[in-house]
Formats: sequence, C-alpha cells, structure tokens
Amino acid sequence: MSFQVHSQDFIARSRDALADAPLQSALGKLRMGLSVRRREAVAALPEFEALREEAAALRDYTLATLDRQLETFEAQVRARGGEVHWAPDAASARAIILELCQRYGAKKVLKGKSMVTEELELNEHLEAHGLRCVETDLGEYIVQLRRERPSHIVAPAIHLRKEDVAESFAAHHVGREHADRSTAEALMAEAREELRAHFLSAEVGITGANFAIAETGSTVIVTNEGNGDLTQSLPKVHIAVTGIEKVVPTLEDASTLLRVLARSATGQEASVYTTFSTGPRRPEDPDGPEAYHVVLVDNGRSAMLGTEFEAMLRCIRCGACLNHCPVYGQVGGHAYGSVYPGPMGAVLTPQLAGLDDTVHLPTASTFCGACEAVCPVKIPLPSLLRRWRQRAYDARLDGDRARWLLRLWAFFAARPRLYHPLLSAATMMLGWLAGPGGSFRRLLGGKAWTESRNFPAPEGGSFLAGLQGEEFAPTPRKAPSR
Ligand code: SF4
Repeated sequence: MSFQVHSQDFIARSRDALADAPLQSALGKLRMGLSVRRREAVAALPEFEALREEAAALRDYTLATLDRQLETFEAQVRARGGEVHWAPDAASARAIILELCQRYGAKKVLKGKSMVTEELELNEHLEAHGLRCVETDLGEYIVQLRRERPSHIVAPAIHLRKEDVAESFAAHHVGREHADRSTAEALMAEAREELRAHFLSAEVGITGANFAIAETGSTVIVTNEGNGDLTQSLPKVHIAVTGIEKVVPTLEDASTLLRVLARSATGQEASVYTTFSTGPRRPEDPDGPEAYHVVLVDNGRSAMLGTEFEAMLRCIRCGACLNHCPVYGQVGGHAYGSVYPGPMGAVLTPQLAGLDDTVHLPTASTFCGACEAVCPVKIPLPSLLRRWRQRAYDARLDGDRARWLLRLWAFFAARPRLYHPLLSAATMMLGWLAGPGGSFRRLLGGKAWTESRNFPAPEGGSFLAGLQGEEFAPTPRKAPSR
C-alpha cells in the first residue's frame, strides 16, 4: 500500500492549529457558511430524508453487485470508443497514467479537482517524470502554488484567507506586480487569466469522477467553476481517474445521488456545472477529446467489501461530515496528515494506510453524532470510528496511559455500589473547587483539555439520577475569594 500518511503527529499539529489565529478565523467562516447553507437547502426539500434513505439503499445495492456494475461499465466505455484501465494499487495507477501521458506526447497536463489523484500522489509522480501538472480548480490551484495539500475534500483552500491567496499570487504570477488583489473577485479574475493560457496549451486533461454510470459508460463530474468541462474537453486526451466504488448502475441512480450531493456539499440545489462524458469525440461533435480513458482505482477498496467497514464505500465525498464535525471545525484538515480529513477520513484512512500509522485518527471524534446525522448516504461514522478504536485497543496500539485509565474506569463502572458514591463525591468536589466561575483553567491529568479551553465543572446530579427521577440539586460552589 503506497498511500502515505503521517498522522502520528496529529496531536502536535492540532495544538499548532488551535494556536493559529488566521486558521481559526478561516475555520470560523466554515462553521458559519457551508453548514448553514446545507440546513437551509435541506429544509427547502421536504423529501430530503426519503432521498437519503434511497441514496443509502442504492449505494448498498451497487456495492453488493459491484463486480457486475464494473463489468457493465467497462463494456459500455469500450462500445463507445473509450478504454478502461484497472489499477489494483496506487503504484499501478500512477504507472498507467504516466504511460498514457507519454503515449500522447504530453508535456503539460491539466488537472480537474480529484481526491483520488491526491490519494495517488499523482502530481508528484508526473512531475518527477518531467511533466508539468496544472490544477484548474481555483482552490486546488491555490494550494498547488503554495505546495500544500487540500485541507477539505470539497473546498481545498478553506484554511486560507483572502490575504493569504493575494500573497501567493504575488509570489508566483510573473509580470503582475501592480495587480489589484484587494477583493475575492479580483483574485478570481487573475487566476482565470493565468489558467487560460494553460487550457489552450495542454495535451492531456485528467479529471476525477463523482460517478461512473454503468448503463452508459459515462463519467460525471460536478463543479461550480466550469474548469472541469474545459479540462476534459479542450485537450486532445481525457483521462478520468476514479475509485471503483464510484460506479452507479443507471442514469436515474446518478440523478438521485446528485440531488443529495449538491445540497449536502454546498447547500445548492444543483452544482453550477454537471458534466457527463461518454467516450471520445464523435465525427458529428463540434469539440471534445480525441481519446477517452478511464482508470479504475482499487487501492484497498475491494478489501473493504464484506467487512465491518463496507458502509464507508457508500461515501460520495460531499464533505458534509467535515463541515459539521466539531473536531475538524477546530483543527482544520491539515492536522489529520491525510488526504482525507474529518470523520470520513478518520474511518477511511486507517483502511487505506493501515492502523499502525493512523491510530490517532479514530480518536479525533467527540461522538456527538453530527457526522452521521448529516451524511446523505447514512454512513454510521461514529460506530465505524468506535470499531477502529476497538481494534487499536485489541492490538495494543493506543498507549499505556489510555489503557490504564480505561481499565480503572471499567473496574469502577462494573461495581455500581462503589461507582455511584465515588462519582457523586467527585462531582461535588469539582463543583465546589470550581467556585463561582464554574470551570477550570487547569486540572490535574487534564492538560490536553485545559491548555486550549476551560473545563466546565459538573453542575450537580447525574444523567442516571435524572432518569431515575431524582431531583436536580446544583453542586454547592466555593465562596468567591475577596
Ligand atoms: S461520509 Fe457521508 S457526509 Fe462524509 S463525505 Fe462521505 S458522503 Fe459526505
């Protein structure tokens, strides 16, 4: 498995992210933007819950018949003059794509936004073989200039402010010393002008695919900038790269998924551009690529079929779980050290890269359940995260301190007559010590919590006591010091 992650430093990177004021300001916009827009879009569509059910069932059916759907897809692509290439792992996918670029004499390659090519570390590979790769999605273009990775699967540059983008353009765009970079519109216009020359001079366009439709052999991409259309139609060769799980049986099925995708991702009824590619240009077509290739990437996906993690393959990469995750909302995507951040990444990455190197990722969750509640294909993300934690515990990967604390807690929890009085006493003590402010700025053994936020003192009573009908009694507080 060549999918490289460096999640061991998750905790250190999270600390840095929490102390990074510009990043926190950028993430604040995420919390107020995409999640609010999704809520409004969902409220405007009464059948949204029914659509989620339908979408989840459709993804499960597709996964149960994946071999058949993929064979049908391949046959349809070939019938329309395209070629299909099967890549069992990242190395073979990179080799196939490089060979295709060399076959067509490419020197410059356009890229549409594609998380699977990030997973393959494709740009680095092509550039190491002398090709120039130009990202055409605005967010991807910006992070490419900065030599960074995307920090979000839908909004790659969400961690940046307008000022950061202006700085990057000033550093990389030659001959534009006096460009106005004071507004987002001016920055977009500048990027468009820079990209235009590349669109007209690249020999190969590489895109991802949101879906691959078995009955027609089409690949589908959704964008808001139209860059995907230009990437796949202007160069003489179009290579679509996608995971094997992205296949759907019919056009009708793709339309069901598109309805939940745009609303969940950006709160739109539909993305601005939804583009279907079916084979190379035909004689009667006014434009389009002369050659059309689809690279179907496995890279660990088929190993998930039939396992407790199969539901993760339903994912349609909408990003809603990231937008609603309190952990992602605080630390951003780069802290995860993986191409796939947030709750979906914390489940998927251990599968793709192995649990040994990613053991911190499944712990990056409060189990609040927001990710599952918004997922358009109803993936039980908290339950899958819990399974990874169980595996980490069973394999003794979670560290001695965590194991010791869990054992201690289990000892008391299994003895209710001891557990409840001790819990009550600890609650009273903490409440009293916290004083009138009701929270701690320092706590023995709780440094990881208190160094970035206060620890609220218990208010009194307990959840269990409440269930048993006991009246709530506020914890007495220490008198304020004068
Ligand atoms: S797990 Fe669900 S919410 Fe998260 S990106 Fe995938 S489809 Fe969207």
